[in-house]
Amino acid sequence: MVVNAVNAKYSVIIPMYNEEQVIAHTYERLSKVMDCCGDTYELVFVNDGSRDRTMTIMREIADRDPRVKIIDFSRNFGHQVAITAGMDYARGEAIVVIDADLQDPPEVILEMIAKWKQGYEVVYGKRLKRHGETAFKKVTAKLYYRLLSSMTSVDIPTDTGDFRLIDRKVADVLRGLKEKNRYVRGLVSWVGFQQTSVEYVREERFAGETKYPLKKMLRFALDGITSFSHKPLKIASYIGFALSLSSFLYLFFVLFQKLFTSRTVPGWASIVGVNLLFNGIMLMLLGVIGEYIGRIYDEAKGRPLYIVRQETGYARLPGEERE
Ligand code: UDP
Ligand code: MG
Repeated sequence: MVVNAVNAKYSVIIPMYNEEQVIAHTYERLSKVMDCCGDTYELVFVNDGSRDRTMTIMREIADRDPRVKIIDFSRNFGHQVAITAGMDYARGEAIVVIDADLQDPPEVILEMIAKWKQGYEVVYGKRLKRHGETAFKKVTAKLYYRLLSSMTSVDIPTDTGDFRLIDRKVADVLRGLKEKNRYVRGLVSWVGFQQTSVEYVREERFAGETKYPLKKMLRFALDGITSFSHKPLKIASYIGFALSLSSFLYLFFVLFQKLFTSRTVPGWASIVGVNLLFNGIMLMLLGVIGEYIGRIYDEAKGRPLYIVRQETGYARLPGEERE
């Protein structure tokens, strides 16, 4: 018998990008945990343009288990977009987002559900420790989250990832936020509601390697800051102001020297030096502005956030449309 997704109480969203080495195992462990909660559930796997056998493996699993749904993207759209798509498709009353690599232990979901039953609308996982990640990643992550919270007025909790449970209500609000450069964990904080955390130890990746190379990580970090803060732009204008003021004072000094002293100014080196410095700063500030304009441009184009090649496990109900 096909369990109707509409009735599922819980939806678990699992974004996957080239996870052939872990995905079968993840499915086993997740379904074991979810079986324990004694309610109906669906597992929404979002295939973010994997180029390996992830999709083949998942199709086999979906054939056997009607609770498994697959959203197959036409290409790689990125982790945050994959999560967003999962939320668009999830039908549960409570929705959990979890990584495919078992770094977030599925058992913690049961604790999240317990908190949800107490009435919390968002339960996020707070990482007490991170195993098996490079010192570089740990240090940069720590610094970054501190920087982010100092820059934004939205209270984005430190040391949390996207491993969290959200209530249907919250998911519906999130679906209405159409911004393209998505920083889901920030958006979840931004929407408010009754939030709490459960603590957990982040495990080592079960197999395979990180799908977040430095370039993606940097882009993600910038998205976080630009989505929730105008401070870099403000800092740009502060620096501009400070520089103009000091240049002005210096100009007075030069004029004074010229008019009232007989000292000639030998300063070729200083002129070149100041020039280089100022040009550097100007270009950097232009870059900051460019980052924002680029994002405005992305929004203005109004392209869809993602393109789905195929949905598996969704028996469309008559008359049902999806946005
Ligand atoms: N992921 C994705 N699309 C991407 C990169 C990653 O869907 O472009 C998924 C990946 O399969 C995993 C999750 O996002 O389920 C987190 O990625 P990863 O474990 O590589 O990141 P890390 O834990 O190293 O930060
Ligand atoms: Mg990981």
